[in-house]
Amino acid sequence: MSNLHRVIIIGGGFGGLRAARELTRAAVDVTLIDRRNFHLFQPLLYQVATGSLSPGEIAAPLRSVLGRQQNTRVLLGDVVDVDPTTKTGRLADGARLAYDSLIVATGSQSSYHGRQEWRDWAPSLKSVEEATSVRHKIFYAFEVAERISDPAQRRAWLTFAIVGAGATGVEVAGAIAEIARQTLRHDFRSIHPGEARIILIDGAPWVLPLFPEELSRKAARTLARLGVEMRTGVRVEHIDREGVTYQGPDGIVHLDARTVIWGGGVTVTPLARTLAERTGRRRTRAVASESARTSRSTGIQTSTSSVISLSRSMRAASRSPVWRRSPCSRALTRLATPCADSAANRRSGGSSTSTKAASR
Ligand SMILES: Cc1cc2nc3c(=O)[nH]c(=O)nc-3n(C[C@H](O)[C@H](O)[C@H](O)COP(=O)(O)OP(=O)(O)OC[C@H]3O[C@@H](n4cnc5c(N)ncnc54)[C@H](O)[C@@H]3O)c2cc1C
Repeated sequence: MSNLHRVIIIGGGFGGLRAARELTRAAVDVTLIDRRNFHLFQPLLYQVATGSLSPGEIAAPLRSVLGRQQNTRVLLGDVVDVDPTTKTGRLADGARLAYDSLIVATGSQSSYHGRQEWRDWAPSLKSVEEATSVRHKIFYAFEVAERISDPAQRRAWLTFAIVGAGATGVEVAGAIAEIARQTLRHDFRSIHPGEARIILIDGAPWVLPLFPEELSRKAARTLARLGVEMRTGVRVEHIDREGVTYQGPDGIVHLDARTVIWGGGVTVTPLARTLAERTGRRRTRAVASESARTSRSTGIQTSTSSVISLSRSMRAASRSPVWRRSPCSRALTRLATPCADSAANRRSGGSSTSTKAASR
């Protein structure tokens, strides 16, 4: 068995892959583990959802991506638990993997703000499955509308509501508008796809609330040109098969919309929560504390030397401060020190290094 320092990277997204790449020439033994055997290019998910790309075009097998990296192996597995004391990760099938350093890059997941049942009617856009489900919903809606003669029903099928006017919601709304006004323009006989209503809903007073004001205004102008209606400053109360109910400035409004798409927010992954518990913190952001930036101890003590790093998106999902400089390179620079510490500790039988947080 190799005596090399064992680095486990959980997650083969942008963060995990970047971490693996940075370790190409390091004298370490890297294992990248993901519950999917492919890397998914999430920024293009909405193009799968709107039919302009196929799933295969935005997914790359992790084995191919890292195939030439001699010190790295790829494993398929769902990590459900991490024990920082024994420095082992546990997979859903019960298998255990030992590490010296752990990089957790499991990304984020959609948050329905405690209304999980809305997911049935309003899929989000985080996975290939969800993107294909959204694609089906969009095109199916036009097909059903073509067969229906009742004007109210037809209108409901031709109404597309997108909840969440962040980057994903804005992109999806714009893309559906283009499908309706351009792509499908000549394809139907009973309906005019261009008459479809695309409605973007958000609680914030404007679209792209986290972006600079000028960009928000520009996005709003572009959306308006595409015929997207914006309902900002409203609170979604309910979503079901009939559509969306929201609290607007003039009271409760029910929107008959057979297609609802969720872009209403993200939260940390279950593994991140587990990790927070295991390290004695209420939230993962506690792990990715400010002190990690200066390489001081985060105060999360483990009985043996260990490094636990969190990817940037995980910290963002747990509302941790965003780091401005290239987080990956700093993380890995930092990683090198505890690796050395760890080796020294092993030699001396020491056990004092603390768990450190880093970025992707
Ligand atoms: C629709 C959409 C559009 C976007 N557009 C942009 C954009 O234009 N520009 C931009 O900068 N960003 C964009 N983003 C955000 C960007 O995609 C994310 O910030 C980025 O993917 C985060 O990378 P990550 O590696 O941290 O997580 P992810 O890419 O989510 O990767 C996490 C990986 O961890 C794996 N995993 C999770 N849990 C486990 C577990 N327990 N065990 C094993 N494996 C696990 C997952 O399978 C996944 O492969 C967009 C996101 C979406 C959804």
